[in-house]
Amino acid sequence: MSSKLDWIRTEIDELKQSGLYNHIRTMSSAQGAWLVVDGKRELNFCSNNYLGLANHPQLIKAAKEAADQYGVGPAAVRTIAGTIDLHKELEQRLAQFKGVEAAITFQSGFCANLATIPALVGKEDVIFSDELNHASIIDGARLSRAKIIRFQHANAQDLEKQVKQHLGDYRRGLIITDGVFSMDGDIAPLDEIHKVAQKYDVMLMVDDAHGEGVLGRGGRGIVDHFNLHGKVDVEVGTMSKAFGVVGGCVAGNAEIVEWLHQRGRPFLFSSAVPASDVAACIAAIDLLEESTELVDKLWSNADYFKAEMKKLGFNTGVSTTPITPVMLGDAKLARNFSKALYDDGVFAMALGYPTVPEGKARIRVMISAAHEQDDLDKGLEAFAKVGKQLGVIA
Ligand SMILES: *Cc1c(COP(=O)(O)O)cnc(C)c1O
Repeated sequence: MSSKLDWIRTEIDELKQSGLYNHIRTMSSAQGAWLVVDGKRELNFCSNNYLGLANHPQLIKAAKEAADQYGVGPAAVRTIAGTIDLHKELEQRLAQFKGVEAAITFQSGFCANLATIPALVGKEDVIFSDELNHASIIDGARLSRAKIIRFQHANAQDLEKQVKQHLGDYRRGLIITDGVFSMDGDIAPLDEIHKVAQKYDVMLMVDDAHGEGVLGRGGRGIVDHFNLHGKVDVEVGTMSKAFGVVGGCVAGNAEIVEWLHQRGRPFLFSSAVPASDVAACIAAIDLLEESTELVDKLWSNADYFKAEMKKLGFNTGVSTTPITPVMLGDAKLARNFSKALYDDGVFAMALGYPTVPEGKARIRVMISAAHEQDDLDKGLEAFAKVGKQLGVIA
């Protein structure tokens, strides 16, 4: 009998014992304010579907028409036979929407980071990375083999200290920060970070996955929010969240975009995004350019929900975006809270270590423009009831 795989069972048992095993729920409906979760209809407080576009009729129509015209599979990577006119159109439209020189798209935001970071820096270089940056930035940074120096979360003074101390030992540097931090909903001080990048002439990259379609005028993102047009070298975005589809993007300096066509490995070695998804992304930009209605509704929903949660006595942390963490501290309490909400018809996930630091467990509520007033009130009612039951609020 072979025992070479026994270690996996041991590891999995340990995860289960420590409460860190991922139990994955199954959806059997389209995304929206309500979802069928493990066969039960639930109010949806979990999706990144900020603008409700994931099930929007105009996006669905565009996707169907593209599938009819181009088929379902790309059958090639972008650099061989995989680039279609729709990819070019989407990239032009993204660049225009964001007011930058150029844009390139990838299969996902995760891929965009894996493509971009190793294309910009190598083993003679240094990366300055916010300590709470997303996993795909961490992986992209490791893949580059550059020296990684972490700076204190959202702290431009500490960044400057690190840059001053270390930059001289390396060929070139790259500063990377998330735009909106997905666990706390706070925004990177990109204006101050840009000042450091400019002062020391270091490349600057922001990953705006949770800011795309959310921050800035009509959802144009964090660079627009801080009015830093033309000053951020690389803006990574995703079409998998507010855009309601799937895919990643790099917008910014034209030479960097040209370089990524040559050296962004997922662009060269993994198949292109299918036409239907690309067409749906273009339809999403159409909607965003036509009206700010959805972005406005997202923010008014978020402002209302957060204010009411505070009135109830919940601690919603440091969020300044529609991401609403409900801080509970204890991981077990967070899990029980989430379970009780689910039984009450509200789907809101508990997040614990290692997704968030130990002792900082929470329920993360994702507010969307898909929510109506009634939905938000129903959610608030459930939070109030469970909060009292579990002694979180008085
Ligand atoms: C979600 C997220 C990603 C990954 O985007 P996908 O398109 O889902 O792969 C990358 N970076 C950050 C900061 C994210 O929040």
